[in-house]
Amino acid sequence: MFTSAIAHKNQLIPQDLFAAIESLKKDLNAIILAHYYQESDIQDIADYIGDSLELSRKAANTNADVIVFAGVHFMAETAKILNPHKLVLLPDLEAGCSLADTCPPKEFAAFKAAHPGHIVISYINCSAEIKAMSDIICTSSNAVKLVQQIPESQPIIFAPDRNLGRYVMQETGRDLVLWQGACIVHENFSEKKIVQLKIQHPQAQVIAHPECEEPVLRHADFIGSTSALLNFVQQNSAQEFIVVTEPGIIHQMHKKAPDKELIPAPPISNCACNECPFMKLNTLEKLYLAMKNKSPEITLSEDIRVRALKPIQRMLEMSK
Ligand code: SF4
Repeated sequence: MFTSAIAHKNQLIPQDLFAAIESLKKDLNAIILAHYYQESDIQDIADYIGDSLELSRKAANTNADVIVFAGVHFMAETAKILNPHKLVLLPDLEAGCSLADTCPPKEFAAFKAAHPGHIVISYINCSAEIKAMSDIICTSSNAVKLVQQIPESQPIIFAPDRNLGRYVMQETGRDLVLWQGACIVHENFSEKKIVQLKIQHPQAQVIAHPECEEPVLRHADFIGSTSALLNFVQQNSAQEFIVVTEPGIIHQMHKKAPDKELIPAPPISNCACNECPFMKLNTLEKLYLAMKNKSPEITLSEDIRVRALKPIQRMLEMSK
């Protein structure tokens, strides 16, 4: 079927990768789920693009036999927790998450033991082991809504992201015990440069993800999950937006609101460090090879999977 090919790490890659992936998708009865922070080509070949909550819902309801997860490890792991009998592929197993890494299971178990009587609400950006120690999982879309459903008298540990936790405290008026984790990408935006951009673009709306630090969030006109930011750009009458999150989302913003000007917020130094290095490990070539080789596959111990499933199911029920 493919007349020409190029070599990639001793494996042949067809030149028309889009056609090759489409063909494998049919052969495997596979679905490709992609996060908004993936490179544009991956977003364009995906069956479904979304934020963590939307992708979890999609993973929970798919009839496909194979889930190809173009995102990072904890997301593919969540798909596996929900679909133990399906093959879940991640194009690059090294695609981890700095935030998930700031919450090692052993230390978190000790932290939990030091706070008896607390329930644990964990942001989905954590390992299966941390999920297994949690009572409820949340995403940036539903964290405020879920905390509001917990009785006032019930003390809560919120993990692993301290910035999202602080934002939830502010929105709900609740006092949460915060695990001090953070994302290297969202903590890298420069408050000073955002203020300078606001002066240059006085009509622009500043829109930010709640994983950003509080001094940055203070300048935001709107704070929300990646999906909420996308909807805001489409629905708000402003013509210019300063986007304070991973710039991968800008591809969908351009597609859904082609007439709007989108200005990526700059990082502190002159680097590309507002791009998630883990998300960007996945490429179209690796995605093709993962489908062709049915590897790398996500595997989990059944004990951890079963314990991690309960708080995810609770989230899906509570956020209906
Ligand atoms: S942007 Fe941050 S939280 Fe999201 S996957 Fe990358 S490192 Fe993790």
